[in-house]
Amino acid sequence: MNRFHFRRADSKKVVAVLLLALCFTSFTSSAYAQKKLNVVTTLTDLKSIALAVGGDRVDVTTIATGYQNPHFVDPKPSFIMKMTRADVFVTIGLDLELGWVPPLLNSARNPDILKGSAGYVDASENIPLLQIPVSISREQGDIHIYGNPHYWLDPQNGKIIARNILDGLVRRQPESRDYFNANYNAFVDELDRKMAEWAAAMAPYRGRRLIAYHNQWPYLETALGFVVLDFLEPKPGIPPTPSQLAKIIGLMKRESVHTLIISPYFRVDSAELVARNVDGSVVILASSVEAFPEVKTYFDLFDYNVARLKEAFQTATH
Ligand SMILES: [Zn+2]
Repeated sequence: MNRFHFRRADSKKVVAVLLLALCFTSFTSSAYAQKKLNVVTTLTDLKSIALAVGGDRVDVTTIATGYQNPHFVDPKPSFIMKMTRADVFVTIGLDLELGWVPPLLNSARNPDILKGSAGYVDASENIPLLQIPVSISREQGDIHIYGNPHYWLDPQNGKIIARNILDGLVRRQPESRDYFNANYNAFVDELDRKMAEWAAAMAPYRGRRLIAYHNQWPYLETALGFVVLDFLEPKPGIPPTPSQLAKIIGLMKRESVHTLIISPYFRVDSAELVARNVDGSVVILASSVEAFPEVKTYFDLFDYNVARLKEAFQTATH
């Protein structure tokens, strides 16, 4: 064997190693592109929008159910496990989940999803908030201290939420930017089409007045054109008192208002008591996706509420 043969053998080895390395690199990069992002959302509404934008490149789990009061969720240990494995965490923000998100984030100790890191998505960013208080009054029991946090109930805000989620997904998986962008655009187009449909359905009832249990509908009022006159809760988070119920009965009689709206997670007895006194009816609206079995997506949420409000306004004489 001369040195020439050795060299030939060496160069063959080098080529083989290079080919192997090339195969390995392309295999790992394609595997990485197909890796699903693990997304955890606080609410089902965020889950529905995250699925719309993330498509088949995300696995989404949610913490609160759609029929649970989002202000008060028990931070169970099983949620911590979900957050430990998350690539992206999406929260409504403001003070909505103040009692349960900070303890979950602290316990999960996942640096990828801590506030300020690439995987943390505050869905309230750029949302035009309603009812921002001039002074903070939490000591009086008010649980909407930064403005009304139920902003997902205006589909216009659904687009902003989708944009915030899009940005978070792209930060965590930039190679899927075009795919996520296309999904986001399709979601916004469909929302525009449906918003025109909902507005048309509600147009005959524009300005119709009603009473609500909790102050959680101002964004839906904006979207659908009805007016909430007052609330069974004297302040957000404070259960109805006899004097508040008496005040509401007087108001409904005086103003000839016959409809009360309530979320599925509140006790219905005080609303029914008022309804009996004013010859009115109680309408249980979906305040989140999955509030009822047929409300499976963010689009269903508005389809459902538009249908219930139409029924209520058609049967009420005023
Ligand atoms: Zn609230």
